[in-house]
Amino acid sequence: MQQIDNLGGSPDRGAIEPFDVVIVGAGFAGMYMLHLTRGLGLAAVVLETASDVGGTWFWNRYPGARCDVESMQYSYSFSEELQQEWHWTERYASQSEILRYANHVADKFDLRRDIVFDTKVVSAVFQDTESEWIVSTDQGKRYRAKWCVMATGCLSAAQTPAITGLDTFSGNIHHTGNWPHEQVDLSGQKVGVIGTGSSGIQVVPELAKQAEHLYVFQRTPNFSIPARNQPMDSQYENLWKENYAERRAKARTTSSGILYDPASPSALAVSPEERQKEYERRWAAGGTGFASTYSDLIKNEEANSTAAEFVRGKIREVVADPKVADILAPVDHPIGSKRICADAMYFETFNRSNVTLVDLRTDPIQTISPEGVVTGTDVYELDTLVLATGFDAMTGALSKIDIVGRQGLTLREKWKDGPNTFLGLMTSGFPNLFIVTGPGSPSVMTNVIVAIEDNVKWIADCLADMIGLSAEYIEATSAAEENWMNQVREAAEGTLYTKARSWYLGVNIPGKPAVFMPYVGGIPAYQSFCDEVAAKGYEGFQIGLEADRPAIRQLRA
Ligand SMILES: Cc1cc2nc3c(=O)[nH]c(=O)nc-3n(C[C@H](O)[C@H](O)[C@H](O)COP(=O)(O)OP(=O)(O)OC[C@H]3O[C@@H](n4cnc5c(N)ncnc54)[C@H](O)[C@@H]3O)c2cc1C
Repeated sequence: MQQIDNLGGSPDRGAIEPFDVVIVGAGFAGMYMLHLTRGLGLAAVVLETASDVGGTWFWNRYPGARCDVESMQYSYSFSEELQQEWHWTERYASQSEILRYANHVADKFDLRRDIVFDTKVVSAVFQDTESEWIVSTDQGKRYRAKWCVMATGCLSAAQTPAITGLDTFSGNIHHTGNWPHEQVDLSGQKVGVIGTGSSGIQVVPELAKQAEHLYVFQRTPNFSIPARNQPMDSQYENLWKENYAERRAKARTTSSGILYDPASPSALAVSPEERQKEYERRWAAGGTGFASTYSDLIKNEEANSTAAEFVRGKIREVVADPKVADILAPVDHPIGSKRICADAMYFETFNRSNVTLVDLRTDPIQTISPEGVVTGTDVYELDTLVLATGFDAMTGALSKIDIVGRQGLTLREKWKDGPNTFLGLMTSGFPNLFIVTGPGSPSVMTNVIVAIEDNVKWIADCLADMIGLSAEYIEATSAAEENWMNQVREAAEGTLYTKARSWYLGVNIPGKPAVFMPYVGGIPAYQSFCDEVAAKGYEGFQIGLEADRPAIRQLRA
């Protein structure tokens, strides 16, 4: 256990600006959290590394960055006025449009006056004696508050691979998760992209249009469905707007929080002809709803292989060179067991004469030299290297902060064998510290804005209840946490998600324990757990009352 910055009871405390709530992160989670805490009459401050709001959509400015949940659904539902007044221009919103939306929300609800930008939180230390958090930043400032909310994002800690020689490369290196704000002109350049997950699949077709030559370095091929993005159909938009309340409520009855065409029960219950027809229909309609064609696709390997084989067939149809098609066709994991991608002419891009696919499974990268990428058999000279290498998902942003709970216990130490939380919302030993879409919550398995809204609302209601009770603290019990993590594990074990070496498991990060992190039981089951816990007086949490404060202080002093 490591004690980092315990100021409990020190005379310095009075000099630190007090708040009721410190919120870390100004993405969609932090923005909504601020709005609701203000509604409770609490003094809140948001601390944000970036120079403006938007989180994911502030950082991921790479060409082709786009949402894979339809615009009409990937937006806040908490304000009827907001959802009526905002007009999305495309079926799937681009990064720049989502960022404009985030800015609009910040303006509409006057959020910026309580957000401190260009400020990275480096530590958050619980003061046992005062039952409050002291949060320190890289700007040398400290904030104290009884409540602390980590809205730091599931996919916000960009992962740079540890490839020998990367720092010797003489050209430009850009990570998709931290793309420059100014225009990156790649015309006339030899460009390499490492990584073919969601970001790689989005960026490759766009870079191929600009670069003189594009080399795509692929270790693991991924399943991708054409998004079939298009300008917003006004009739479609109106239908949504006329029925928003009802549709949002219906979306929350689905596992992913997304209204897709309803799934049929089983791929194996229908004839191969009928199945093929349905897959063709969904492929033509486009989007990640393809993975929800049949309810058993993510549970039954035989059912899954019918969909996987269909997509492999499409790849072979689209890609002219059969050898290239073979390399692009995923065979090492069930479809949907890694985040399924939605693309714009991804596979077609490999028919271009200025694009080369490099199969790292047969010819791994040995090193990066000043000139470019060196594999076992070739040297690829490059002007620019693009890292589409993803994120230290779900725990990455939290583990970069020195979070210290009771008795000097650090979160890093507590989670060294994998994260454990109660409902993804709190973790024992860290009172009054809430996490939005934390490990153990549905988060990345859903329309994340739905998961965010539900978590943030629960946290705000909890704060209101704690204030009503004059509570000194609320803390998850270890027993509730253990029980919940067992449920998280069992939910995943009943599916094919565990059959892939994915970032859901953390295996993309060297040394990270392989623990399946999100809860895959779906939004309705999760939300009813959360509601039930609150209705039963926060069963599974321990609550200390202010009236007991002198005794608590004495106990902890
Ligand atoms: C490329 C990409 C595409 C995506 N597409 C989809 C999609 O199609 N559908 C979907 O549902 N979800 C998608 N997501 C997930 C997306 O992250 C969520 O939908 C949502 O935007 C998350 O919001 P958030 O506020 O929880 O986190 P974020 O948007 O990640 O915001 C977290 C904020 O916290 C800040 N922060 C972190 N650590 C600190 C610190 N120590 N100090 C101060 N500030 C800190 C970060 O700078 C960031 O601004 C995508 C993610 C990525 C990366």
